[in-house]
Amino acid sequence: MAKKRNILLIYTGGTIGMIKDYGSNALKAFNFSQILDNIPELNQLDCNIESISFDEPMDSSNMNTDFYIQIAETIEENYEQFDGFVVLTGSDTMSYISSAISFMLENLQKPVIFTGSQLPIGYLRTDAKENLITSIEIASAYNNDKPIISEVCLYFEYKLYRANRTTKLSAEQFEAFTSMNYPPLAESGVHLHFNENLLLKSKGDQLIVRKNLVTDIAILKLFPGISANVISSILNIPNLKGVVLETYGAGNAPTEDWFIELLSEAIEKGIHIINVTQCSGGSVIMGHYETSTQLKQIGVIGGKDITTESAVAKLMYLLGIGLEKEEFAHYFQESLRGEISNL
Ligand code: ASP
Repeated sequence: MAKKRNILLIYTGGTIGMIKDYGSNALKAFNFSQILDNIPELNQLDCNIESISFDEPMDSSNMNTDFYIQIAETIEENYEQFDGFVVLTGSDTMSYISSAISFMLENLQKPVIFTGSQLPIGYLRTDAKENLITSIEIASAYNNDKPIISEVCLYFEYKLYRANRTTKLSAEQFEAFTSMNYPPLAESGVHLHFNENLLLKSKGDQLIVRKNLVTDIAILKLFPGISANVISSILNIPNLKGVVLETYGAGNAPTEDWFIELLSEAIEKGIHIINVTQCSGGSVIMGHYETSTQLKQIGVIGGKDITTESAVAKLMYLLGIGLEKEEFAHYFQESLRGEISNL
């Protein structure tokens, strides 16, 4: 008989954690220690579920990197006792949080599934129950004593994605996330279907939890008419270490001298600049057009098809490791957790 898996539910906050008090009709924060009492459907799952909650559940807009460390440490402390982890956060910054956790958990060999919902768990039309129940099923899916998933994922509205490939797409639809540059890892219909050839293979090494995230970074989104003053102000922020430069199309930007000079000076000072496209799908190909040739020449790093959310996380992570300039550029363009394609 298949072994009953132990799943740890880590509740950090967000819309999902609210329940309707049918006496007063009001929505109130949900006490996750009583999760099985409140969602009896969970008792039908063939696994043991335990839960841990942040002392003060929060909106994901307030979740800074200190809380990422708290999530990573909770997984680290419970790594041996549990077979899988489901992390509940607000959806607004879930792609940023889960991308960062994917970098923080090196050599992960167990499933870590992020989920949440657009409507609180206490609403009649809620999407929370399906998201939660299927995430737990995925976290407990094992084949011959090996987890099917051994990476950080995000499950929402019948689709399982690689977390560091996702972006929040809608504040309205239940289908709140998309992954434009990588197909879903699993789809839930009548059956739960895993796309096995797309999954990351675990290398079998010991888990290493990387907790040093450097947050002295900025996102600089270009727009037609952006002034030298704005670019210069951002690139001269004291202590700035990295910039995610959101360019147009396949990585294109103005060729005006002042623009190239400002970027070049920043790179000379040791600031890492990553070229990421503003388009939701597709890839940066530096040198493809004349409008990106100079960026390549001055040492801007091509972010290929990485999302902005993942680029932010990877920048924080690689800065925390402390690499030389060439190594930094090399590792940024390599796939470390499946976040970037080998183009
Ligand atoms: N504002 C909420 C949050 O991100 C939205 C949600 O949970 O979906 O925390």
